[in-house]
Amino acid sequence: MSPKVKSANNGHCRVCSARITPFMSFGRMPIANGFLRPDQTENEYFFELTPAFCEACGMFQLLEQPDPQKMFHEQYAFYSSTSHYMQAHFEAFAHAVINTVFAGRDEPFVVELGSNDGIMLRHFKDRGVRHLGVEPSANVADVARSQGISTISAFFDRGLADQIAADQGGADAILAANVMCHIPDLPGVAAGVQRLLKADGVFMFEDPYLGDMIAKTSYDQIYDEHVFIFSATSVQRAFAPFGLELVDVMPQITHGGSMRYTLAPKGSRQVSKKVSEQLAKEAALGLDQAETYLQFRANCENSRAALMQTLGRLRSQQKRVVGYGATSKSTTVINYCGITPEHVEFISDTTPIKQGRLSPGAHIPVKAYGEFAKRYPDYALLFAWNHAAEIREKEAGFVAAGGRWVVYVPEVAIVS
Ligand SMILES: [Zn+2]
Repeated sequence: MSPKVKSANNGHCRVCSARITPFMSFGRMPIANGFLRPDQTENEYFFELTPAFCEACGMFQLLEQPDPQKMFHEQYAFYSSTSHYMQAHFEAFAHAVINTVFAGRDEPFVVELGSNDGIMLRHFKDRGVRHLGVEPSANVADVARSQGISTISAFFDRGLADQIAADQGGADAILAANVMCHIPDLPGVAAGVQRLLKADGVFMFEDPYLGDMIAKTSYDQIYDEHVFIFSATSVQRAFAPFGLELVDVMPQITHGGSMRYTLAPKGSRQVSKKVSEQLAKEAALGLDQAETYLQFRANCENSRAALMQTLGRLRSQQKRVVGYGATSKSTTVINYCGITPEHVEFISDTTPIKQGRLSPGAHIPVKAYGEFAKRYPDYALLFAWNHAAEIREKEAGFVAAGGRWVVYVPEVAIVS
């Protein structure tokens, strides 16, 4: 019997179709990565950012998502390989697959969904492993192909899964990193994985983890591109109708707290005891209870009040405050809290395409990193908090010169 699949409906869970209602609204929100040229502020696009929790299947999701054409415009050219830290992370991920899953296999075949510029697949290519990347963003896929990494520009679904299986055979491993949480039609992808995976294959993916977001009140994980924030509980339930079983979980420190999930055809592998332990932790955290999200909402409101009180005080003291890192995450914080150019003089960022632009919604200028280093502000608001350790090490000179960091995860504080 084939699983019953329904498309996402407004007001219905994208996974199980139960009726759901948002537990809060972050208000009118622009596109998180929609940094504007100064002449583009007139017709800026906004939507209402409303997360919901499905009590039936436990999936945390966005109820409303902007038109995808508004999201993946020409400015959306994020190349994974620009981060050295992420390069090392994906090299380790690839080697873990090669050394464990592929050990003893003849000519294994790996498929990566959302393979970007080949940051992970290049390690399979270098070891002579048969591989295929599926990357919807054509310009990013071109970069991968130019380096000899087999990549097709397409969206992964049942049809594509059948085509790949017919042309190249079933996959020993299907991988995805920071991709699954972006795809609204999760059942469609799950059905594709079910079709493409060999009977003894594994599907491994990692994404920001709901447990970390709730524990740290890191609500800035919630923005237009993150349609789901997963937990072991919700992943286990979402894939079960497709004959896929959660067999392992592995916490990751990337993106402020992520989880790597390993799924396999039901009964094909032993289930690690880490799975039941994680499910028990999630039950203890209340991740499957609606009340937890009402508390999360209250925590978000308290965080907002504390941050604005701090920024208001610094402003009244005429302190210079500069934002550090024009991240997608920062768009939710800036617009939900009501941070303006009156609070934050500019945002410093090393990404050339963002420099000279204005932040989405609040229109805070984004300037080159040199502007920060040239004349240190009194305070730096750390938007790129998930890289706090690296950044605070790099910016020892800022603190030595008397500068202080304003942070808001897990709590609003001024730190040196
Ligand atoms: Zn549901």
